[in-house]
Amino acid sequence: MKLLTATNATQGYRHNDFDWCVEGELVHIGVICARDQADPDGGCGCGRAFAGLNSHRATTTAMIREIPGFSDDDYVLAIRSSLEQQGYDSSYAEHEAAELRILVRDWPVGAIVERRLDEIVVREVMQPDQEADT
Ligand SMILES: [Zn+2]
Repeated sequence: MKLLTATNATQGYRHNDFDWCVEGELVHIGVICARDQADPDGGCGCGRAFAGLNSHRATTTAMIREIPGFSDDDYVLAIRSSLEQQGYDSSYAEHEAAELRILVRDWPVGAIVERRLDEIVVREVMQPDQEADT
């Protein structure tokens, strides 16, 4: 299935880009704190970031990748355990997994996306062979 993953591709496109995630790890769309609520370029950074499910760190760039053998249940489980590890309410894990699946459904593998508060937009689409070089 197609999944939203961390990437450092296109980092630097915006002056305030950052990537503290592990390349290729699953990311989700975390909550925005009060500081960044109205400004994707705010001082915290969470308004323009995706959150790594494993590293619990953040990146401003995510890539749509096809991960063979990954199921819907795996996805829910990954999100649930990440939320639990961080002390968040995990009861929305299923809902969140469904939302993320819908989000990436129409984007091609290799699409690099960025976050502007509640909007996720495509920054660039990479060809699969381009990705292999990085
Ligand atoms: Zn924040």
